Formats: sequence, C-alpha cells, structure tokens
Amino acid sequence: AAKGDGRGIHRFFRPEMLAGAQSRKQLEDDLRDALAANQFFVAYQPVVSTTTERIVGYEALLRWEHPTRGLISPADFVPVAEDCGLIESIGEWVLRTACLDAADWPKDVRVAVNVSPIQFANPALPTVVTSALAKSGIAPHRLELEITEGVFVDENAATEQMFKTLKGCGVRLALDDFGTGYSSLGYLKKAPFDKIKIDQSFVRGAAIAGNRNAAIIKAIVSLAETLGMETTAEGVENHDEIALIRELGCSHIQGYVYGKPARAADVLEQLAAGAGRAIASGYRISRSPRTAM
Ligand code: C2E
Ligand code: MG
Ligand code: MG
Ligand code: MG
Repeated sequence: AAKGDGRGIHRFFRPEMLAGAQSRKQLEDDLRDALAANQFFVAYQPVVSTTTERIVGYEALLRWEHPTRGLISPADFVPVAEDCGLIESIGEWVLRTACLDAADWPKDVRVAVNVSPIQFANPALPTVVTSALAKSGIAPHRLELEITEGVFVDENAATEQMFKTLKGCGVRLALDDFGTGYSSLGYLKKAPFDKIKIDQSFVRGAAIAGNRNAAIIKAIVSLAETLGMETTAEGVENHDEIALIRELGCSHIQGYVYGKPARAADVLEQLAAGAGRAIASGYRISRSPRTAM
C-alpha cells in the first residue's frame, strides 16, 4: 500500500501508479472477474443522530480487494464499472449484501446504499430493490438509497417516474454529495428526498474561524428543513466539527470521528457491545475497527 496521505485513504492502491491506458484496460479486465471471484466486500460506516448521539444507521461502502494490488477505492473503480456496463450487476450485489447484513442488526438501524445514475436509469431498479428487501426480510423503510445529482443530468419523464416508483416501494431516498455536482435547486422540489447529505468538501475547514463553509452548511440545513428533509454532514473528523455541525442544526453526522467504514463482522460486534446506545453516555466509537478501511 502507498504511504499515508493524511486523509485516511492511504490503504488504497492508486491506479495512477500504473501507466495510463494500459492500467485502465487492465483494471477493466480485472473488474470483469471480480464479482465471480468474490473480491468485493461491503464496509459499513455509522451515521449518528446529532440529538441523541445514537447510531441510526450505516452507509454501505463497496470495497474491492484486488488479488495483487490490494484494496482499490470505489472512487477509482466505480467510474470504470459504469463505463464498461458492470455497475448494474455489482450494484445489485451491493444492495443484496447490504440488506442481508442489515437483517442481523437491531430493527431501528437503517442501511444506506449508493446507487449509480446508471442503475437509476434502468427500469429494472425497483424490482432489484424489492427483491433484495424480500430476500433479506428487512422492512423497506430501513433501506435508504443514496442518489447523486448525476441522475438529473439526463433528466426526463422516466427520472420522475423512477422517484415515484421507488418511494412507492417504501424505501427512503437521500441526495448524496449535495452541492458538488450538477447543481440546480429545481429538482429538490420535484424529487421526494428524505435526506440531503452535505458533501465533506463543505465540512472540511468549516470549524475554522472565518471559513465560509459554515454559512453554506447553514443555508443547506435551512433549505432542507423547509422542505421537510433531514441532513447528514459527511466527513466529520473531529470534535470541533461535531460541535459546529450540531450548532448549524444538521440532524445527522457521518465521519471518521464516530467510526471508519468497517467489516460487517466488526459492526455486529459494535452493535452487540451496545455501542449504538453507549455513545450518549460519553463513549464514542473512536477506537479504530480492527480492520479500518
Ligand atoms: P460517498 O457515498 O459520498 O461516501 C462517503 C465517502 O467518504 C466514503 O469514501 C467514506 O469512506 C468517506 N468518508 C467518510 N467519513 C470520512 C471522513 O471523516 N473523512 C474522510 N476524508 N473521508 C470520509 P469511499 O468509501 O472511498 O467511497 C467513495 C465514493 O464511492 C462514495 O462516496 C460513493 O460515491 C462511491 N461508492 C462507494 N460504494 C459504492 C457503491 O456500492 N455503489 C456506487 N455506485 N458507488 C459507491
Ligand atoms: Mg454515499
Ligand atoms: Mg457523499
Ligand atoms: Mg461521493
């Protein structure tokens, strides 16, 4: 693995380490075999309520354990999977796995799954979702689908219909990486989001005096509240940021300060140890999981 870059992603292999086009082609070829070869796993990161400090859910984050290169970041291979038509089968696997894992958790703990705009454009998505729910037995309201602004780039009648159909399945919808993509506020009134996830680029530095990110977060929270949506601040790394995010009125916090993404087995251990309850009494999940990733 490469040396730490101080941002917590140092355990990932970086494709830039290989030469350009060759590396991309190789990555594609390897990706085609990865699902069948069982090289994927899902890591889970806690989402904590700012008011109760309890874990209300976990976000499912896909990990690829490459046989020779080690862990590769989804930021590097998801775009490749999107380009070469693999994201649908991989995404379906993530949905099933996340729902099955969540079936072992307390019934008030949710699971959030990232959905690529390519999956979102496929009319089969609601069937994939309902089948993952049925196989796991978890209640639909425990599943939250995280969608990025990317789904609005080619917005058409089918986009709006997909939102309706998914809401009809009873799942929750979150708008991920808010403010970083194709930014138009118009879709906020059209799409039935339950939550806005404030991108970590706004959280970064927000607790430093004079930083304008705090004002932006405040505006997003106020907008979300008006629309009846929850807000999660992403990438919260320290206690100054927790204090600020609470003050700004975000309903939820996700970030290394409460826990890094961890294996399903470690999550079960945390939950069994009562971590979900104990946060409020001062114990924070600051202990790094055995296999932080
Ligand atoms: P995302 O959905 O916005 O996920 C949050 C990312 O922030 C995760 O990176 C997480 O590990 C990281 N993170 C969380 N807290 C902190 C923090 O305190 N500090 C820092 N520096 N980072 C933090 P990860 O796991 O590398 O995932 C990157 C992106 O890859 C995700 O961003 C999501 O867009 C995509 N992704 C991950 N899993 C899937 C998947 O199953 N399907 C699809 N389509 N995309 C996925
Ligand atoms: Mg996400
Ligand atoms: Mg995000
Ligand atoms: Mg992201």
